[in-house]
Amino acid sequence: MSDIITLVSQLSDDQEAAYLGALRKSLPGEVLLPLRETSAQQRAQSSIAIVANPRPADVARLPNLAWVHSLWAGVEQLVAAWPKDGPPIVRLVDPEMSRTMAEAVLAWTYYLQRDMPTYRLQQTDRQWCQRVYRKPSSMEIGIVGLGTLGTCAAERLVRAGFRVNGWSRTAKNVDGVHVYHGDTGLNDMLTTADIVICLMPLTSDTRGLIDGARIAQMKRGAALINFARGPIIVEAELLDALDRGLLSHAVLDVFDIEPLPLQSRLWEHPRVTILPHISAPTDVHTAASVIAANVSEYRKTGKLPASVDLTRGY
Ligand code: NAP
Repeated sequence: MSDIITLVSQLSDDQEAAYLGALRKSLPGEVLLPLRETSAQQRAQSSIAIVANPRPADVARLPNLAWVHSLWAGVEQLVAAWPKDGPPIVRLVDPEMSRTMAEAVLAWTYYLQRDMPTYRLQQTDRQWCQRVYRKPSSMEIGIVGLGTLGTCAAERLVRAGFRVNGWSRTAKNVDGVHVYHGDTGLNDMLTTADIVICLMPLTSDTRGLIDGARIAQMKRGAALINFARGPIIVEAELLDALDRGLLSHAVLDVFDIEPLPLQSRLWEHPRVTILPHISAPTDVHTAASVIAANVSEYRKTGKLPASVDLTRGY
């Protein structure tokens, strides 16, 4: 009986066809089938699943999985529904995604540094008013979460001349970046940052991490970018801080509920820029190459790629 790989997803038909095509091209020696096309025997033969927002009951139909590979970098929904004795989860770590995220971080950092939200509002009022130019070298950026994406973004900001700080759970060295860790480290970083950029996973420790109390510690008039997950920031307390002018602006790509509900007050807030979860989409082709390399290595050596620590949640 030869081993097969099963794709378990709730993607649209078009998206699923695109991923199947790219994955089959990158894994020519493998049999890759979407779950709905598998027989009971093939499901029993499947030792690897590639997953995208899978229904837990669908994954449970594959009883002999050695591991699963997520098509996404963020795996909080998968982790939340995962049985304690479930197979290891490998998340997507794709240099192309890191590049895309770093580009988004730089783009929206420039957007804030060059006061574009204010000039947009001034235009609406036909107002001609020149604000003081701030050099990158005069601005402190604080990146909350200095992992794969945060580190790449930090390096990009350093190259653009910004003063870059980062915060992670464990201490680390990143060239040109002042790295903080631990609770006091976060508070220290927040008090000095002109722009705070959230790039950490959603876990039980990070849910609600940026609340009213933390926002109150931030520099008056600082701006916030959230490219990670909505629930890391307490939305109602963020809105309150924006109403009171404690923060000058928030660029939000991720929300508690997506798509952002039509009745949300965030849509019309003059200090908010809404993005529809676009800062770093998975690239079908590079993701397929990364997954293919992980699968090939496993077939050759029996070695699993680095997997998510289920107790830590990321
Ligand atoms: P990662 O490599 O796992 O890095 C996570 C970082 O967060 C690490 O530096 C980690 O610290 C830190 N961290 C985690 N929990 C912490 C805690 N309790 N206290 C302090 N630091 C903590 O993840 P990544 O690949 O950079 O991705 C980050 C997140 O970005 C993903 O989980 C996903 O939600 C989001 N994302 C969003 C988009 C989008 O389009 N909006 C796209 C891709 C990903 P250590 O280094 O010490 O472990």
